[in-house]
Amino acid sequence: MTSIVTLGSHSALQVLKGAKDEGFKTILVSEKKRERLYRRFKFIDEIILVDSFLEIADQKCESILKENDSIIIPHGTLISQMDSLKIESIKTPIFGNKWILRWESDRNMKEQLMREAQLDVPKTVANAKEIKHLVIAKRHGAAGGKGYFLTTSEKDYKKKRDKLIDAGLIKEDSDLYLQEYSFGVSAYLQYFYSPLNDELEFFGADRRYESDIDGLGRIPAAQQLDIDSISSFNVIGNSPLVLRESLLDEVYSMGERFVDAAKRLVAPGMNGPFCLEGVYDENGKFTTFEFSARIVAGTNMYVDGSPYSTFLYDEPMSMGRRIAREIKQAKNSNELEKIVT
Ligand code: AMP
Repeated sequence: MTSIVTLGSHSALQVLKGAKDEGFKTILVSEKKRERLYRRFKFIDEIILVDSFLEIADQKCESILKENDSIIIPHGTLISQMDSLKIESIKTPIFGNKWILRWESDRNMKEQLMREAQLDVPKTVANAKEIKHLVIAKRHGAAGGKGYFLTTSEKDYKKKRDKLIDAGLIKEDSDLYLQEYSFGVSAYLQYFYSPLNDELEFFGADRRYESDIDGLGRIPAAQQLDIDSISSFNVIGNSPLVLRESLLDEVYSMGERFVDAAKRLVAPGMNGPFCLEGVYDENGKFTTFEFSARIVAGTNMYVDGSPYSTFLYDEPMSMGRRIAREIKQAKNSNELEKIVT
């Protein structure tokens, strides 16, 4: 019997609940400290306890997964805990395209793929000397927004950079990536592309609550000036967002361009869930500052389906369940090799 496996964090509950609903055996690879949490959920059939998530690539874990005919569902924790080489070396089949995860982690490759998809991308600022407008300094990898900061001058940049070095979050300038800040309403657009049906589904949108930048608006400007700490963009949770219907056509076009670009640059392409992340300006124009090439945690709020999945499915369809449905379809039509790497 095929089993669906994921790491115990990020969107594990949604992924495994969806897998169970579609009739799969479910396995969680969990750090020992989280065992008590995950034992609460009856839809998790088996828990493999590890000291570190890196063990998913070890022979011991791999042989258990092989016995269970497992497919791993990758999520943000896999990317933040393992470098690309390590992920690519995993022998257990990974749902989607494991090669594209490198394009998510590497800022330069990421920008290249977004430009290939003809998405509007904020300008990169190559050197702190060139900071003229509002700029966001971001750490590399899936840092989750921790230690990111805003700045408008080289002098202020250096002050904040030094604070991060003192806090041990970064070592040097090259650990930061500078990008022009995009004004407007942030939106995280969730998609699923099925290579089996050659169809793109728009699954939902969300906003992120990031600490402590999202808390600043509650503090009057005069008191803000007295605060001498760096505001971080660390994601704490997500809230739902429904877009103006007139924006949907372009949402689909952007997603399709992204899928086409991924097919050209990184075979077998952007299969499965992904997310385009950016900001709508006053004219409804979207600037994309990021993408995630796998399920995003913003889909966790739509376990019973989203306002958009409801138009596509006559039953509650979470992203986790959609993934399991694709695996079921591929198994039934003997096309598993099309949806895993
Ligand atoms: P990221 O790691 O790129 O997803 O960035 C984390 C957070 O920083 C995002 O969720 C946004 O709130 C913010 N952010 C990143 N890049 C930009 C940008 N170019 N303009 C405005 N906000 C940004």
